[in-house]
Amino acid sequence: MGLRNQHITKETQYQYVNWPVVYFVAFLHSVAVIGIFQMFQCNWKTLLFNLIFLEYVQLGTMAGVHRLWSHRSYKASMPLQIFLAVAQTAARQNPIYTWVRDHRVHHKYVDTDADPHDARRGFFFTHLGWAFMPRLPQVIEKGEKIDLSDMRSNPVVMFQKRYYRWTTLVMCYVIPISICCWSWNESIIYAYFVTSLRYVISLNVTFLVNSAAHLWGNKPYDVNINPAQNLGVTLLTMGEGFHNYHHVFPHDYRTSEFGIRFNLTTAFIDLMSLLGLASNLKKVSKETVLARRSRTGDLMSAASG
Ligand code: ZN
Ligand code: ZN
Repeated sequence: MGLRNQHITKETQYQYVNWPVVYFVAFLHSVAVIGIFQMFQCNWKTLLFNLIFLEYVQLGTMAGVHRLWSHRSYKASMPLQIFLAVAQTAARQNPIYTWVRDHRVHHKYVDTDADPHDARRGFFFTHLGWAFMPRLPQVIEKGEKIDLSDMRSNPVVMFQKRYYRWTTLVMCYVIPISICCWSWNESIIYAYFVTSLRYVISLNVTFLVNSAAHLWGNKPYDVNINPAQNLGVTLLTMGEGFHNYHHVFPHDYRTSEFGIRFNLTTAFIDLMSLLGLASNLKKVSKETVLARRSRTGDLMSAASG
């Protein structure tokens, strides 16, 4: 183990760029740009549907694969897990299993050579560039050592992993496009381009947590780490931009000390708890937060996202 990619270093990594992936991502973004123009011509129902679907997909990422599966910050009943797993499949950002492994490595080895998207290497690498290159041996080695036994024993996660290849295409493209075409006779061209735009937006919004929220913002909880409180990212991601707080207290289901403020994901989890679908919501006490702030935080900076 750990022998794979031994010849790759930070310096040589750029010689092994996976060009087909680069071309594909460039194609995807070009289609999305055309989608921006088509937004003004398509049926308003197509727009509204994609906006609602975007929020659903985001819940799969933020409330699902991030706060539930990666951090186990609350427990979800089977119906809620299925609801979130379907949304995460539509997000098309790797299966839950892989996403969780990468995210746990990211937290454990944040901004080191073993972090898949090491923010010390600048905005482009951490936003998207890391996906264009083979991984450093350190990332692979540490990733293989991450405990994923909870994922392996989760039937929803393993089912999704097994059928991900086709189900993600069906959930991300086929079903949304079919709904637009069959329900209000949208042209397949408009439906395709606006759907692609929705996908590209959701991808970039998630990537901003790795890039912008690791580069710009306040550090009220720990000045010694890169993750920061970034209001722009907070607004775009329904609450994931309180990143200095999140890296200091990763098991807090709210990802901030401010409850539902700018944090629709927390509001969603609270609602699920009220309905009896979520339980064991983990929180860090106010005293612990204040103690940590005065010990390692930048006391001059505002704590909000
Ligand atoms: Zn992070
Ligand atoms: Zn996290």
